Amino acid sequence: MVDTMLDTIRQQGLRVTPVVKTLVNYLYSSRTVNSAIELKAVLIHKLGYTIPDSTIYRSCERLVACGIFHTTFFNNGITGYFICREMSNREHQHFICRYCHCVQEIHVSLKDCFGTSVESCIDGRLEQSRILFEGVCSSCEK
Ligand SMILES: [Zn+2]
Ligand SMILES: [Zn+2]
Repeated sequence: MVDTMLDTIRQQGLRVTPVVKTLVNYLYSSRTVNSAIELKAVLIHKLGYTIPDSTIYRSCERLVACGIFHTTFFNNGITGYFICREMSNREHQHFICRYCHCVQEIHVSLKDCFGTSVESCIDGRLEQSRILFEGVCSSCEK
C-alpha cells in the first residue's frame, strides 16, 4: 500500500525524497495525527540528520496536495497531519481520538445519511462530502 502511495506521488511529479518516504511510512504505520514538530523528531530519529522546518512543511503540504495526507487542527490551533490508508477505496470518513490521536477509517456513506436533507437545502445535487469525526476511542474510553 505504501508503494502504491509512493507511485502516486511520482505520478504527480513529486520527488520521493528520503523525507517524503519516511513521512509516508511513519504515518502509515503509526495511524496517528502528528504535528510538523512531532514529525521533525521522527525524521531526525529515523534519518539520523536534522531537517530544516521549511522542508518538512513543504513535503507535508505536497503530500496533502497529492491526497495522501489529510490535515486537522489540534486544540492549540496547530496543524496535524495524518494519512488516508484507503486512498482509492470506497467512500469513508476518518475518526480521530482526541486523547491518543489515533485515526480510524469509518465506512459510512454521508450521501446516504445526509444526501436528501442537504439537497433540499441547496436545491441542487450533492456530489461529495467529508466529515472529520472526533471523540474518544475504545482504548481511551476504558
Ligand atoms: Zn482514509
Ligand atoms: Zn484514543
